[in-house]
Amino acid sequence: MSDFDFDLFVIGGGSGGVRAARVASGELGVKVGLAEESRYGGTCVIRGCVPKKLMVFASEYADTVETAQTYGWSFGESDFDWARFQTHMRAELDRLERIYRSLLANSGVKTFDQRATVVGPHEVTLADGTTKTAKHILVATGGRPVRLEIPGAELAMVSDDLFDMATIPQRLLIVGGGYIACEFAGILNGLGAKVTQMYRGAQILRGFDDDARNVIADGMHERGIDLRLNCNVVDLQRDDKAIVATDTKGHAKAYDAVLFATGRNPNTDGLGLEPVGVTLGRSGAVVVDDFSQTAVPSIYAIGDVTNRVNLTPVAIREGMAFVETVFKGNPTPVDHALIPSAVFTQPEMGTVGLSEQDAREQEEIEVYRTTFKPMQTSFAGRPDRVMMKLIVSKASRRVLGCHIVAPHAGEIIQLAGIAVKMGATKEDFDRTVAVHPTMSEEIVTMRNPERTP
Ligand code: NDP
Repeated sequence: MSDFDFDLFVIGGGSGGVRAARVASGELGVKVGLAEESRYGGTCVIRGCVPKKLMVFASEYADTVETAQTYGWSFGESDFDWARFQTHMRAELDRLERIYRSLLANSGVKTFDQRATVVGPHEVTLADGTTKTAKHILVATGGRPVRLEIPGAELAMVSDDLFDMATIPQRLLIVGGGYIACEFAGILNGLGAKVTQMYRGAQILRGFDDDARNVIADGMHERGIDLRLNCNVVDLQRDDKAIVATDTKGHAKAYDAVLFATGRNPNTDGLGLEPVGVTLGRSGAVVVDDFSQTAVPSIYAIGDVTNRVNLTPVAIREGMAFVETVFKGNPTPVDHALIPSAVFTQPEMGTVGLSEQDAREQEEIEVYRTTFKPMQTSFAGRPDRVMMKLIVSKASRRVLGCHIVAPHAGEIIQLAGIAVKMGATKEDFDRTVAVHPTMSEEIVTMRNPERTP
């Protein structure tokens, strides 16, 4: 008989926390408690990936309707009704949240719909004042958007606010050049906003392959996004119904809304971690070892709160590895190498492995690259371009990186990611027969490496 109320107490009901809780409880019979102060499903389901992807779909229909006319279709007058879409989106999120709740209930997890804070290596306090003890505590509290510290910052939205906007703003300023800024620039442009995006650096999507960044920026520009590089916002002021934004170049312009998409910080404020001995790193991220264990042996942390690779499937992996390590006696580190991912910009990007720049620093490489106009939209006279690129080790012939900017690039990279993760060589790609006519056949038909300077 355990002296603790629970074998495991999870703080945070997002993707990582829920997975760890229900696998530990449902499959292994571990006694699990879980506290969530907001909605079950966390950032991904409630205010991130899921509603974002629904908005991507919604925003792409404008182009589809236009392109369809070249294919012989005629439609009546088309219009986008944000309120109608929002009603459907909210119903879908409610449905998903109910699924998360029932998954936990059916696995035997005891849930507490309130905030929990850590008060000892084996102890948490709930918002109602009650204390629960647990042999292990798992911190899975995620992250939150960062607001710039400039005058008038309170006038801006952050990504959490996007899904509850009363209307689509006519003139929107997006600040930032990362995933969220670039994805929502495309989404809101597609939904009818006149989007200006301001980014302090020389090119958006820092850290990704340079060619991919350039093709995406060109595509965004062609779709009508006013991309202002090497420029940042320094001041926001309310002027009647508008918000006037002044930038580092001294220009002032009026917008109906401003979005800060300037990064996310781990949710550790006031969680009680440092007083009990857990080490926090930059921006308050929980410092963990390869097994997600903190400086306090009974406390573990997974997902965005650890600021390793901030992606839902990675948090889920970390949760599964935690269960394997702690409750199955099988120490399992999380493999963070060669994680495929997508950025749902318009055009979309799928990527796995090293960028050309990073690979070049590591070893001698060959670069295979092709750009072309995809059949479907080229037929309709659209300028959209697709780019596919393979980075290949000269010594081992292994494909070190694969970067695709194309419609459905996220779907394509999931499969290319298997080959890259398996250690496929360029010759393995070459001996795979093309699927014709598709866009992705180009990934197996690139014959000659580019001349390196
Ligand atoms: P990112 O870290 O991707 O981007 C933050 C952006 O804000 C960068 O362009 C950064 O510039 C800029 N920035 C930071 N500080 C300032 C400042 N003081 N002034 C001006 N600009 C600033 O964060 P996001 O918020 O876009 O996304 C957070 C995380 O969520 C991502 O890293 C990703 O892990 C995850 N995510 C994943 C998605 C997906 O898989 N499709 C979608 C959305 C989010 P600089 O580059 O110069 O530092």
